[in-house]
Amino acid sequence: MNDLLKSLGLDAANPNAGGFDGAWCGGGPVLEVATPIDGSRIGSVRQVTAAEYDRIVDRASEAFRSWRMVPAPKRGEVVRQLGDRLRAKKAALGALVTLEMGKITAEGEGEVQEMIDICDFACGLSRQLYGLTMHSERPRHRMYEQWHPLGVVGIISAFNFPVAVWSWNAALAAVCGDTTVWKPAPKTPLSALATIRIAEEVCRANAVDPAIFSLAMGDVAAVGERMLADRRIPLVSATGSCRLGYRVAEVVGKRLGRTLLELGGNNAIIVTSYADLNLAARAIVFGAVGTAGQRCTSTRRVIVHRAMQAELMKRLAAAYETVRIGDPRKSDTLMGPLVSGDSVDMMQAALRRVPAEGGRVVYGGDVLRGPQYPGGGYVKPAIVEATPSMALVKEETFAPILYVIPYGGTARPADAAALERELLEAIAIQNDVPQGLSSAIFSHHQMETELFLSHVGSDCGIANVNIGTSGAEIGGAFGGEKETGGGRESGSDSWRSYMRRQTNTMNWSAELPLAQGIKFGE
Ligand code: NAD
Repeated sequence: MNDLLKSLGLDAANPNAGGFDGAWCGGGPVLEVATPIDGSRIGSVRQVTAAEYDRIVDRASEAFRSWRMVPAPKRGEVVRQLGDRLRAKKAALGALVTLEMGKITAEGEGEVQEMIDICDFACGLSRQLYGLTMHSERPRHRMYEQWHPLGVVGIISAFNFPVAVWSWNAALAAVCGDTTVWKPAPKTPLSALATIRIAEEVCRANAVDPAIFSLAMGDVAAVGERMLADRRIPLVSATGSCRLGYRVAEVVGKRLGRTLLELGGNNAIIVTSYADLNLAARAIVFGAVGTAGQRCTSTRRVIVHRAMQAELMKRLAAAYETVRIGDPRKSDTLMGPLVSGDSVDMMQAALRRVPAEGGRVVYGGDVLRGPQYPGGGYVKPAIVEATPSMALVKEETFAPILYVIPYGGTARPADAAALERELLEAIAIQNDVPQGLSSAIFSHHQMETELFLSHVGSDCGIANVNIGTSGAEIGGAFGGEKETGGGRESGSDSWRSYMRRQTNTMNWSAELPLAQGIKFGE
């Protein structure tokens, strides 16, 4: 373990390291870090004080003033090199993510791959920060819009993607000419430290002020709340629970700052009577069990046509039996531990509510004990037969619980009208939750898939056909509606959130015509 930390420029004890503003600092409380793999201590980090936070944001503001004038393609070149450094460190950083968060090695490395992908994307984007030109209604006038850098972006991230969320924000923000101050999750500080060390190295090699990628690790009072209220930060991009989102919206909204919110999900897969159950079962297992159900896009609900229910349940139970649970570093493990004892307690509390709410636990849910399950975080994933009206199915329990809800009749619909009626019933169940992140349908019937994707279909930010809810490519805009917060990150035109738009009208005539033909004092 010490070798791993050393290869990333860290020690077991990291005094003076929780803050970075071009130089390392940290005179605040010590944060102890343990691994959920066996509960043992990995190390510690000294966090920043409120005064240090203030200085970090000052330095990031100063760095912004020069970084914004660097041509965007040159900023893209720095981000390209960041991607290359991450390529070289992929195995080590992925292993640290696994150690701190508990996701399996393939997913830890997959997370670093997402960072590499977004750096590639952002580098290309740095030559494509396009604005539109418009035809003016006035003669000899020209209108166009341009996109300017915005300022210091505050990044608040969640424990379950300890490093990728930073990169989705930081890579785009950097090519857009912004600087960033990152408040990482307290459960995964070492991964954050290692990431900023890599970014620092790249900046120094390019003679760029490393304060463009700043870090302010600290508790909610010293850093989190200050960041929300901080008028030096025009945009706060926050990833976490819906509870966090409400708070961010309230405090940042009060000062009319901008927010980009990436919050909880309650993602469903609809399995129709025209589904390929082979595909559907595989997607459901990956979505519900992968990352131990701790992805914002984890599959939490399956809404299955009654004609398929028995067969699907049989396949799911068989597939769940083959899921190897244990040390996430072992190559044959598919599910590691939950991140903490609190998560285990939350899962157990949810399962205890099932019978009273009218559901039935039909598989798993137990806490696993014994020498091969040290640390107390290992659980058997649960499958619950549920009804749409259960309060539980409207909540996001951040653990591997899958609610299976039947819809429709017991046989395949007899005609197009019945097919539409039944699928609308399934879509209504799917949409009847406060969150709106990811959704999917498994069907080979075109009317069904098109209805699902239509205006009366899924109300989520992500709607997939014949692939699951979990995981997304960085090329698409990522985010969701309703209590998921409405933000979009990563691909497509999400970059616009990190810039300010300016509309310019140029008059090259010798007159001063007013818009709408208004005559004023002539
Ligand atoms: P959390 O809301 O407990 O914490 C997220 C971050 O917010 C942490 O860094 C935390 O310290 C910080 N925070 C908490 N209160 C704050 C405050 N008042 N001011 C400023 N910062 C504050 O979430 P978590 O348990 O770390 O992560 C799990 C949640 O994140 C789930 O709900 C999951 O769905 C969500 N998530 C969403 C996405 C997405 O893209 N939609 C991605 C990953 C995780």
